[in-house]
Formats: sequence, structure tokens, C-alpha cells
Amino acid sequence: MIYADHAATTQLDREAFEAMLPFLLEEYGNASQPYSFSRTAKRALERAREIIAQCIGALPEEIYFTSGGTESNNWALKGSLSYEERCEIITSQIEHHSVLNVCKAAEKLRFNTRYLPVDTFGTVSAAALDKNISDKTKLVSVMMANNEVGTIEPIQELCSITHRHGVVFHTDAVQAIGHVPVDVACLNVDMLSASAHKFNGPKGIGFLYIRKGTPLRPYADGGSQEHGLRAGTENVAAIVGMAAALKKSCDTMQQRIGHLKYLEQQLLCRLREAHIDFIRNGTNQLPGNISLSFREAEGEMLLHRLDFMGICVSLGSACNSGNMQMSHVLEAMKVPKEYAIGTIRVSFGHTNTVEDADIIADAIVRILKDQ
Ligand code: PLP
Repeated sequence: MIYADHAATTQLDREAFEAMLPFLLEEYGNASQPYSFSRTAKRALERAREIIAQCIGALPEEIYFTSGGTESNNWALKGSLSYEERCEIITSQIEHHSVLNVCKAAEKLRFNTRYLPVDTFGTVSAAALDKNISDKTKLVSVMMANNEVGTIEPIQELCSITHRHGVVFHTDAVQAIGHVPVDVACLNVDMLSASAHKFNGPKGIGFLYIRKGTPLRPYADGGSQEHGLRAGTENVAAIVGMAAALKKSCDTMQQRIGHLKYLEQQLLCRLREAHIDFIRNGTNQLPGNISLSFREAEGEMLLHRLDFMGICVSLGSACNSGNMQMSHVLEAMKVPKEYAIGTIRVSFGHTNTVEDADIIADAIVRILKDQ
């Protein structure tokens, strides 16, 4: 099997798995208990917080553990809304559904939402943000990198416009963290969402960075965990695994980026050499994230035939699988329909090889020439 869907999820790193093991077996103490048996768990939890904070240039007390990207996004958006005078969220047309569907739910509660347009490369318009932001705006939320096409957004610029208006800025960095350098101090963001399973950590764990002083309501009421903002007994093993995976991703990032860029070029060159008519979507993409739109082809047919050949890729985005309608991202980017419906996303990981890239390209060529 060739797995080339790392933007959907990644394999748990073995070292991260080994770091988790003691907390699944012997060190099962509740990190909130005061007796000495729980001390190892408590220490591991706080060490994980420090490691994660270091990886993104934050303070440990600004890292809040959550169950993943969806929860972090829900918290950042829902926790910011209030019925006081500022009651509008600005986001973009190409966000993940864990942002877009919160916005839809907010609309039902009569909050205003505005969706910033993107250009044909999927870059969010800073000019549109400047024009739309007002004294009603409570929060601006724009993703750091798009999951379908990989475009990395101009977060620093968008954040600086937002702050000029005295508004809080959140970014969904689920696809970016561990893959490209992310420093919250440089970017100046107020909140940032991340999910461990996108960087070889375990599933069902993530974090929300909340800059000190950022107003945000609690996500879950109950015990006093996570400074009383997100109650619930901590999943120490998963948190330890997440920290180990993130540290390893950051420590090896430059090598991984070089390797992934090489694989991308290999795949694209082979498709071009075979005179295949396609568009690569996006610009300034995440390393290894390749959204390909083939003219007059069907993405679903391609996905299933590749699956039959033992190759896992995604149909535009994993969350949209099975849905042959043009994705909201490609629609916002105005990708011509004759290309858009023939879109697949190949997302390489550091364990993929040049041979994998060749096999995938050759398989695509064979399928398209056969149809
Ligand atoms: N945001 C983006 C950009 C994503 O790609 C995903 C997952 O695909 C999520 C949020 C949701 O993350 P999780 O799977 O941890 O809930």
C-alpha cells in the first residue's frame, strides 16, 4: 500500500508511542490529584506543555489541551461570541468545516458573519479584510494553511490589519503546525488551533494557544483543569505523545521540507512528461500537499481506481469524500468546472519515497489514458 493522504491523518510516530506507554500502563494517576503517585503524570503534563510552547514560541500557560482541531476551532469561535455590542465574526470562504459550520450556527443565533474572498490561488484578500472589518467585529479567524490546496495564508498581514482595529485574531493552524515554521510571537496571533494527528501524534488530542489576556469564555465547565477553562481529566498519555511528535517534527522540519518538495517535483514532472492536462491548485503550498485537477476526469473515479491499485489519496479533502459536488474551496478559487470535478489531493509524508511518487504518477497516467 502507498499512503499519500497525510493531510487527512498521519501514522503515530514510534518514539511518540513509546513516550505514551508508561502513562497508559503504570503511571495512570490522575494528574490533578495531590498524592505522590500522581506526581509523575502531573510533571509529564507540564513538561509536555513546556515542549509545545517552545515549539511555537509561546508561554507554557498559553497552551490549553483540547480533543483536537475541531474542538480548538469551536472553542476559539464560540468562546469569543457574546451578545454585547461587538457581535460579528469575519472568516474566509475556504475554511475547514469546523470553522464554517460554527459560523453557520452563529448566524442562526443572529450573529453576523462575513466570508472573505480568495484569489484564484486561494490566498485570502487582505484588502477585503481591511474593507469589511468594523467596530462590530469581535473576531477574525483565517486558517494558516488550507487543507484542500495547501495555500499558506499571509497571517502576519491579516493579523496586523485586525489588530489595527482592536479586534482579536484566531488562526486554524491544524495543517501548518509541525510542517512549516510557526511562531506565535512573530505572527502576533491571539489564538491558534492545532491537532496532533496531523503531525504524527495520536488522534483525539490537540491544543489551543490563547495569548495571555485574550478574552475567551470557558469551553467546558466542571473541574479546574486547564485554568478552569476546559474541564475534564487530562489525557496524559496523548498529551505526552503529542509533545514528543511535535518536537520531533520541528527538530527535523528542514530535512522533511526538502524531501517533500523533491517528491512533489518528481510527481509533477512525470505527469507533465506524459502530457496530462491538469492544474496544480494553490500557491506557496504546504510541502507535499498537491491538489491536482485533471481536465474532463472524475475525481471519484480516480480515487477508487487508485485505491484498487493500493494507493490512498483524497478527493479534494478527506472531509468531503463521497461528495462529487465542487468543493467550497475550489469554487471560491474559481477553478473551471471541467477541471474542478477531476480533483484529487496527493499529500506526501516524510516516509514516502521517490518510488512512491513515480508509482502514483504512472498510475494516474494509466487511468487517465484508459478512460
Ligand atoms: N482544521 C483543518 C484545516 C483541518 O484540516 C482539520 C482536519 O482535517 C481540522 C481543522 C479538524 O481537526 P481534527 O481532525 O483534529 O478535529
